[in-house]
Amino acid sequence: QPLPVQTAEDAPASAALLARASQVIPGGVNSPVRAFRAVGGTPRFMASGSGPWLTDADGKRYVDLICSWGPMILGHAHPDVLAAVNHAAAQGFSFGTPSENEVRLAEEIVARVEPVEQVRLVNSGTEATMSAIRLARGFTGRDVIVKFAGCYHGHVDALLASAGSGIATFALPDSAGVPRSSAGETIVLPYNDLSAVEAAFAERGHEIAAVITEAAPGNMGVVPPDPGFTEGLLRLTKQHGALLVSDEVMTGFRCSASGFYGLEGPYAAGAPDLFTFGKVMGGGFPTAAFGGRADVMALLAPQGPVYQAGTLSGNPVASAAGLATLQGCTPAVYERLDTVAHAIADAVANELTAASVPHTIQWAGSMFSVFFRDGAVTSYDEAKDQDTAAFRRFFHSMLGQGVHLPPSAFEAWFVSASHDDEAVEHVIGALPTAARAAAT
Ligand code: PLP
Repeated sequence: QPLPVQTAEDAPASAALLARASQVIPGGVNSPVRAFRAVGGTPRFMASGSGPWLTDADGKRYVDLICSWGPMILGHAHPDVLAAVNHAAAQGFSFGTPSENEVRLAEEIVARVEPVEQVRLVNSGTEATMSAIRLARGFTGRDVIVKFAGCYHGHVDALLASAGSGIATFALPDSAGVPRSSAGETIVLPYNDLSAVEAAFAERGHEIAAVITEAAPGNMGVVPPDPGFTEGLLRLTKQHGALLVSDEVMTGFRCSASGFYGLEGPYAAGAPDLFTFGKVMGGGFPTAAFGGRADVMALLAPQGPVYQAGTLSGNPVASAAGLATLQGCTPAVYERLDTVAHAIADAVANELTAASVPHTIQWAGSMFSVFFRDGAVTSYDEAKDQDTAAFRRFFHSMLGQGVHLPPSAFEAWFVSASHDDEAVEHVIGALPTAARAAAT
């Protein structure tokens, strides 16, 4: 039986666009995971999105389970967000001066996440984590950053390291072009391993500016923190005068109205000192934020000595889109996300079980991912130990049947509140064939 890998003939318009794109854009894409390298085949070039549906350049429709990697929590082109964007855009696109929309978005974030007293708006999650790290270094006067293997915090030099293990082992950069000196200030530890963090602090506590962690990792698939892990990080950072940066770029305003913090916090050992946000808070527009303790944020320019800036930061149209999205995230929306996610995940589990395909589904709130292996996944090493070839067959069968999954076995699946019963039934209807494909 041939592999159900979609070929250029299945998507001629996308294939033609990819050929054109490849002439002028490296690899034909502006962000690597879009290129389908992990699954093979032709990435679909989308022409439009509406609610839970995407339509590609060939006019083929897909139920979208990427949701722009998180931001489209209300679905594509939601009427309220569209109205807010149209209204804001009609007033002008960017002023290079302060404006009220950015104040309103900042107020909304501060009101939702209790430990966040101030925020600075930026243009991407990468900028948010980069700036949070600079601020933590400026505040502590220390250089070393601790991160966890399998956690992604954007393409910041110092955070693009996941190689190396063991305490005080300087990590090797994951990407060419990252100076050894930059990655050399980063200690990479296994996720959910508090004793490794304890050992790192015992050895180099006086050098560590911050520990940065995804509030609940979603970038190696969904691997929630073990009970007590976040508490332990808080205890150790506070004991040693380091900051804890909780990266909620993916989980923020998705796992709950106040992010993963809203599910797991408040903590007995105190609160993370800094948070980073992105995705949902921009509603599909390029805006993100970092924020936290007022005494730490006070170090930012123009008040303090830590420089940070942006021509388009706090953009009025992006801020309006983000604000309308956050305001649209009602309790009913979170309820619907939960219902949709569980309906899809239960059906995936049933069909993979029926086809005897090993799998494990893991959760952080309504965020979930499917690992093609048996047994719980608590770390990156375990996440990597799965049948990616089975995922590839599953992915292409779903794609062929009009369901667009994230094109990698190491990603969370994202749903929106606009995923109605028709969209959910469409996904469920595609699963038996895809599960059988995965099994072959
Ligand atoms: N942090 C986390 C947890 C993320 O998931 C991402 C992106 O996927 C980032 C940071 C980087 O955000 P951006 O892609 O907006 O730069």
